[in-house]
Amino acid sequence: MPLDAECLFCKIIEGNIPADIVYRDENVVAFRDISPKAPTHVLIIPTVHVENVAELAKMSSVITASLFSAAKEIADSEGLDGYRTVFNTGASAGQSVFHAHMHLLGGRPLTWPPG
Ligand code: 5GP
Ligand code: ZN
Repeated sequence: MPLDAECLFCKIIEGNIPADIVYRDENVVAFRDISPKAPTHVLIIPTVHVENVAELAKMSSVITASLFSAAKEIADSEGLDGYRTVFNTGASAGQSVFHAHMHLLGGRPLTWPPG
């Protein structure tokens, strides 16, 4: 459970794959998405390997709280007046990396509903 040697995002946590890291604490790491969908597009991930947020919900709520407090800190440091947080859960919802991650999007008007 802590880290998975085959997982892309675990490799980023360990520093084995480079990433533009914007925030790190005991519970989460945040880095810029390689294919940004907004001027600010950051991925915030738990420092334990869990497949999705359904699995994350079985763990300490401190980790989940850390994801949201990191989002607020990053949004402030990016100067965002509003932002969107998204978790894709399952391939049918667009999840392509199976290490739970929060998308933090901002820096442009965000329409609703999302595509
Ligand atoms: P998902 O589709 O699973 O919700 O989101 C995965 C995200 O990871 C995508 O937005 C994709 O652009 C991003 N991504 C995939 N590979 C890499 C990578 O190697 N580095 C970074 N920084 N982002 C990645
Ligand atoms: Zn992982």
